[in-house]
Amino acid sequence: MALIVQKYGGTSVADADKIKNVARRIAATKDKGNEVVVVVSAMGDNTDKLLKLAYQVTKRPDDRELDLLLSTGEVVSSTLLAMALEEMGYEAISLTGGQAGIRTDAAYSQARIQRIDPERVVSELDKGNIVIVAGFQGITEGMDITTLGRGGSDTTAVALAASLAAEVCQIYTDVEGVYTADPKLAPEAKKLDEISYEEMLEMASYGAKVMHPRAVELGELFHISILVASSFTDNPGTLIHGGGSMEVRNKVRGIAHDLDVAKITVVGVPDRPGIAAAIFVPLAKANINVDTIVQNASINNITDLTFTVAKSQLDKAMAVVGPICQSIGAREYVSDAKMGKVSIIGTGMQNNPGFAARMFSALSEQGINIQLISTSEIRITCIIDEARVKDAVQALHRAFELEIEE
Ligand code: ADP
Ligand code: ASP
Ligand code: MG
Repeated sequence: MALIVQKYGGTSVADADKIKNVARRIAATKDKGNEVVVVVSAMGDNTDKLLKLAYQVTKRPDDRELDLLLSTGEVVSSTLLAMALEEMGYEAISLTGGQAGIRTDAAYSQARIQRIDPERVVSELDKGNIVIVAGFQGITEGMDITTLGRGGSDTTAVALAASLAAEVCQIYTDVEGVYTADPKLAPEAKKLDEISYEEMLEMASYGAKVMHPRAVELGELFHISILVASSFTDNPGTLIHGGGSMEVRNKVRGIAHDLDVAKITVVGVPDRPGIAAAIFVPLAKANINVDTIVQNASINNITDLTFTVAKSQLDKAMAVVGPICQSIGAREYVSDAKMGKVSIIGTGMQNNPGFAARMFSALSEQGINIQLISTSEIRITCIIDEARVKDAVQALHRAFELEIEE
């Protein structure tokens, strides 16, 4: 008998029939003699719908109220799933994140799990129950409900798997695993049988939303094997694991893309010590996540500074940058919300300059202008026009021969 944590995403529980389908899959896992803890996302695009409703009521929803509102999406799906299992004759109980002991800080909309008190989940398992936990949410010391960031149910699942010492965390979704690129953009993308935490973390952090980056981080930290597979078929899926040398191939493993990119340029900045701190410290204090940063070489001690943020944070970032611009004596600041990101990722790229050259050539052959470049040891990212992202992903997929079986 093993303890298995399964997570089902929004598309997998989008309507009553799909909830019944998921219930059957859970029942089959239980029938094999396993203890089962299930994490669910909100049905279909319910989180988007709730968010839209909030913005129809007010331009600036209160952080606390918004998190409590969004958390209800997962409460709906978890209760319905428990009912579907009961209907099939299985003992099941649904728990909110708070009831499941998921304790977070108070950073609404991007709360971090501080600890999990698993007693209630364990006692329900001991009674023979299948435990269904509402994903994406937790509770603060002050008993307020928080959410973990969009896509955060994956993180609930891996965190629970770690705290319960589960044998495996299975992430069931609407694709058959992790692909060499988003199959919705690159139809020739191939499913990977396995991928290292390191590569998956870069893929997820740079836009491959099939996994929440923090879930991958937790998996690596607590040595939890994560299986990504389809809720609709029985095909084997992709195993995310800590495998060593077998990963190091002289090859790009995947292409990630992200359409949620906006660019801010501060123009005519005096080039002197303290300027970067003057801009980025207030942005950090305002909880704005700055991604790629580029500063041009200065001419006559005047330079330009460009950085990217998520589109949803552009207005907030511009409001912070405005007054700073004045105080540091910058000429002006401008933004462009129509940006995108494409990245090539693979541990086999380390210390090999050939990959960058090939990437830039492939983009230039398509007439795609690269606006900013950022790199890590196992990733190269180009910021480009949003409208060219699909072409870029397909061109890079071809250039690195990812459609060819290894
Ligand atoms: P869920 O609701 O199950 O959490 P998500 O929509 O969050 O599902 O994630 C699954 C989606 O991630 C897929 O439908 C696919 O379009 C997208 N995706 C992006 N990059 C990849 C990739 N490299 N491999 C697989 N899916 C990807
Ligand atoms: N329902 C939440 C979202 O749409 C969390 C999740 O699906 O993982 O972001
Ligand atoms: Mg998801």
